[in-house]
Amino acid sequence: MTTGKINVSVENIFPLIKKFLYSDHEIFLRELVSNATDATLKLKHLTSIGETSVEYGNPIIEVKIDKEGKKLHIIDQGLGMTADEVEKYINQVAFSGAEEFLEKYKDSAKDSGIIGHFGLGFYSAFMVAEKVEIITKSYKDEPAAHWICDGSPEFTLETADKTTRGTEIILHIAEDSLEFLEDFKIRELLTKYNKFMPVPIKFGTRKEQKAYGVGEEEKMEEIEVENIINNPSPAWTKQPTELTDEDYKNFYRELYPMQFEEPLFNIHLNVDYPFNLTGILYFPKMSADLQIQKDKIQLYQNQVFVTDNVEGIVPEFLTMLKGVIDSPDIPLNVSRSYLQADGAVKKISNYITRKVADKLKSLFTENREDFEKKWNDIKIVLEYGMLSEPKFYEKAGAFVLYPTVSKNYYTLDELKEAIKEKQTDKDGKLIVLYASNNDAQHSYVEAAEAKGYEVLLLDSPIVSHLIQKLESDNENLQFVRVDSDHIDNLIKKDDNQISKLSDEEKESLKTTLESIVPTATYTVQLEAMDSQAAPFMITQPEFMRRMKEMSQSSGGGGMFGMGNFPEMYNLVVNTNSDLATSILNEKDKTTQEGLVKQALDLAKLSQGLLKGEDLTAFVKRSFELIK
Ligand code: ADP
Ligand code: MG
Repeated sequence: MTTGKINVSVENIFPLIKKFLYSDHEIFLRELVSNATDATLKLKHLTSIGETSVEYGNPIIEVKIDKEGKKLHIIDQGLGMTADEVEKYINQVAFSGAEEFLEKYKDSAKDSGIIGHFGLGFYSAFMVAEKVEIITKSYKDEPAAHWICDGSPEFTLETADKTTRGTEIILHIAEDSLEFLEDFKIRELLTKYNKFMPVPIKFGTRKEQKAYGVGEEEKMEEIEVENIINNPSPAWTKQPTELTDEDYKNFYRELYPMQFEEPLFNIHLNVDYPFNLTGILYFPKMSADLQIQKDKIQLYQNQVFVTDNVEGIVPEFLTMLKGVIDSPDIPLNVSRSYLQADGAVKKISNYITRKVADKLKSLFTENREDFEKKWNDIKIVLEYGMLSEPKFYEKAGAFVLYPTVSKNYYTLDELKEAIKEKQTDKDGKLIVLYASNNDAQHSYVEAAEAKGYEVLLLDSPIVSHLIQKLESDNENLQFVRVDSDHIDNLIKKDDNQISKLSDEEKESLKTTLESIVPTATYTVQLEAMDSQAAPFMITQPEFMRRMKEMSQSSGGGGMFGMGNFPEMYNLVVNTNSDLATSILNEKDKTTQEGLVKQALDLAKLSQGLLKGEDLTAFVKRSFELIK
C-alpha cells in the first residue's frame, strides 16, 4: 500500500473548488459520466487500431444509487487505469491548471462551469461527496488499484481484487447533497446532460410487456428490464441520406417530449472544415403565445449537453428555432461576451445563417406550394432575419414572399412585375399597396381590389421596419397603406370614370359638406368613383400615419416632441354614389345634416375612429333611424 500527498500548490483547493463551482454543482455527474465515456471510447479506439487484442464487446456505463450506504456508483467497462496511471492522472495532472484558472476567471468562474478543460472534471465529485473511491482495473495485465480520498489532499492507494476491466467511481455523498441519492434527481441529471452520449448508460430498471407462449396460449407478462437512459446515436450524428422525414420528426419528439406540435421543416447541419459542427435545426410552428423560450436550441459538445443558451453561436433571429448544435470547436461554457469575441464563434454563426438561407431557398424552389402554406408560420423569423442580418438579407430575395390579401404569394421581383402596369405613379415609381389588418381595413381593400390593384397583407409586428428597409434599398418602390390618401392621388388614373355630377353640383356639394364636417380634422375630397364604391371614406396620408406610428413607438413623449400629433384625415366622398346625390338634393337642412353626420360616422366606424361618446350617440341615432 502506498500513501502520499496529492500534488497541489494550493493546500485548501477542495474548499475552493466547492465554493467556486457551487452554483453548478450538479455537473459532477456529467463530468464523471464523461470520463467513463472517454475511457470507453479510448478502449474502442485502441482495439480498432489493433493496439490491444482485448475484446471490446458491448460496454455500457452504469449509474447506481445505494441509498442505505449513501453512495453513488458510476461504473464503466472502459480502459481502466493501472496504479501508476492513477498516480499520474488523478493525483498529479488534475490540478495543473487550477491556480491559473482561479486567478484568471475570478468572479466569472462562479457560473461559467469551466471544469473539463482544466482537468478539474474528476474533482467536481468533491462538490457533492465527502469521500471518493476509485476501483479500477486496466485493460493491461496489471492488478486493480483502489484509491481513496476524503476531500483533504491526503489519499491512499492500494491494490484491489477487481477482476473485470474498467473503473468504478464511488461517491460517499455528503450530508448537504443527499438529494443526489434520489432516483428522480439522478434520472433528471442524466436526462439533461447525458441523453445523447455515445455509450449506453444504464440506470435502474423499467417495466416492459413481454409475450410468452404461442398462438392461442400467448399471454403478456410484465417484466423488469435494464433501463438505458440515453440514445447513443442521435439523429444529428447520422448522415442526412440515412434519415427519413419520419426520423427527423421522431428526433424532434425525443428532444422535446412535451412538445406536441410537429415542426414545419428541418435543416441538417454538417460541416468539418474550417470548424467541426453538426446538428439539426427545426422551424417550429410559431404559436401566438410565443412559448418559444421554453424549448430552446441545445448546444452539445461531442454529444454531451452543454447549455441551451446559444446566444452568439446562433444568429439572434434564429434563436426562435429549435434543435441541436454539436461542436467541439466552441469554447466550452464560457461567458457570452467571450463567445462573441471569439472568431470561430462568429464564423459558426455566419455558417448557420448561410445554411438556413440555402435550405429555405431549396424548400422554396422544390415545393413552392408547400412553402407558401408555411409562410405565415415562418415569416416573423425571416422578416426579422432580413432586418438584423445583412448576410441573410442578401439571400432573402430568392425566397421571401409578399402575400396579397387574396392569397397570391409574390417574391419581390414578381410583385414588381405584377404591379408595374397599374400601380405606377407619375414619376414611374411603383406603388405597393398593403393592408396591415384585413378586417380593420376591409372596405379600403375592397375598393382597391375593385380597381384591379394588388393589395399585400403585411401584418407582422415588425413590418413597418421592413418596409422602410425595402424602400431605402429599392429606389423605385413606395409602400402605401391601403387606407392612405395616396392611392388615387399617386397612381395614374384611368380617366374613364365619368362623373355623374356637374362641376357646379360638385362645388355645391363640397360647400355643404364643409359646413357640416369639422374641417380642422377632415379635408373634404370629392372623387368620381364607381357608384358601388363606399360613398364616404376616411383616409390618412401615409406620411402622417408613419410619423404618428413612429412617435408612438418612441415612447410617450414622442420623438421631436411629436406627442400631440394633430388628428388629420381626408374625407373622400364618392360623387357617383347615390348618397352624394341624395345629400345634394336634400332641401331640408336638418335632414341633410343628419345624412352627412351619419355617413361620416359610418366612415369613421370602418376606420376604427368612432369611439366613446360619439359611438354611443351613433348607435342611438341608428336605432332611431330603423324604428
Ligand atoms: P479531463 O477529463 O479533462 O482529462 P478529469 O479530471 O475529468 O480531466 O480526469 C482526469 C483524468 O483521469 C482523465 O484524463 C483520465 O485519464 C483519468 N480518468 C478519470 N476517470 C476515468 C475513468 N473512469 N476511466 C479511466 N480513466 C479515467
Ligand atoms: Mg473529464
